[in-house]
Amino acid sequence: MSASDLLVASAPTKTRFSFEVFPPRSNQAALALGAVIQHLAATRPEFISVTYGANGSHREATLDLLKHIRKHTDVLPMAHLTTVATPREQLEAVIQGLMDAGIHDFLALRGDNPRGMDEADPLLQDSLSSLELINLLSAARASRPAFTSVGRTAVAVYPTGHPQSRSLEADIDWLLQKEQAGASLAITQLFFYAEEYLEFVAAARAGGVKLPILPGVMPVSTSQQLRKVAELAGQQAPTELERAMDSAGGFAPELGVEYAIKLCRELLAGGAPSLHLYTFNKHEQVTAVLRELELI
Ligand code: FAD
Repeated sequence: MSASDLLVASAPTKTRFSFEVFPPRSNQAALALGAVIQHLAATRPEFISVTYGANGSHREATLDLLKHIRKHTDVLPMAHLTTVATPREQLEAVIQGLMDAGIHDFLALRGDNPRGMDEADPLLQDSLSSLELINLLSAARASRPAFTSVGRTAVAVYPTGHPQSRSLEADIDWLLQKEQAGASLAITQLFFYAEEYLEFVAAARAGGVKLPILPGVMPVSTSQQLRKVAELAGQQAPTELERAMDSAGGFAPELGVEYAIKLCRELLAGGAPSLHLYTFNKHEQVTAVLRELELI
């Protein structure tokens, strides 16, 4: 069986897509985001995921946004959740609170250590792993009345590696452990080249991982965003795109959209089951990408 056969093995019949948004940091941003959510929801995504500040910062804003999506759209909200520097009991309470609000889909993450926190801080030392969070989510589901909590647990993966990655093999083995603990979906960190995703998925399949792995793609609008994404991915930004954006004065959404369309085409041709689009709380760029791909 070839690598692309392995990819296709878990693909649904119709290409779907989903979005990521982050909680607004001001009242004005919240108003603008309300309109963005309506535009995103109108495209009928599979889900909209909402990021969570490490150490639970902006937790209320995350919860408000999840509830807003739940109440004002037909789209499934997915809550990112991090364990770092958060006691187990607090995490359990947050999970139950989210489930009480009708949110049953989660992206289970460890999160990054809060800036300035001493490595030896007991709160940090006692942080649960992402695997333990998956177990907490399964236990929370089991503790609720049958059929009231049938959500999915997603996890993060890093096609170009993570600073704490020991090796690709160890990453795949860790992912396999997460799948065995109940994860049913993985979403990738940003990357710039389709081969990076396709090779990672092929390695995961060879290692026995079966869950769908959604490529995370962000149509960047500015050179600054491009550099930020490159930093996140721990990679150099594609030189041509960076130069073109710089020559256009640094603000060039059309170039970011064009790059994302090409990347998505290659990902789908390689067998990606679905696309996860990082919106940066804007709808224009992601909907332009989906329209061009004829997915909306
Ligand atoms: P882990 O599961 O600990 O994995 C991190 C790395 O360490 C991986 O390479 C993994 O393979 C390796 N590793 C860990 N433990 C083991 C082990 N026992 N054996 C072998 N390898 C191991 N951060 C936020 O704060 N809020 C968010 O909302 C948020 N959303 C994200 C969404 C996506 C799609 C992605 C990709 C990342 C997101 N992040 C977010 C960032 C994430 O929290 C950080 O990258 C964090 O450092 C790692 O979290 P994790 O759950 O992947 O960690």
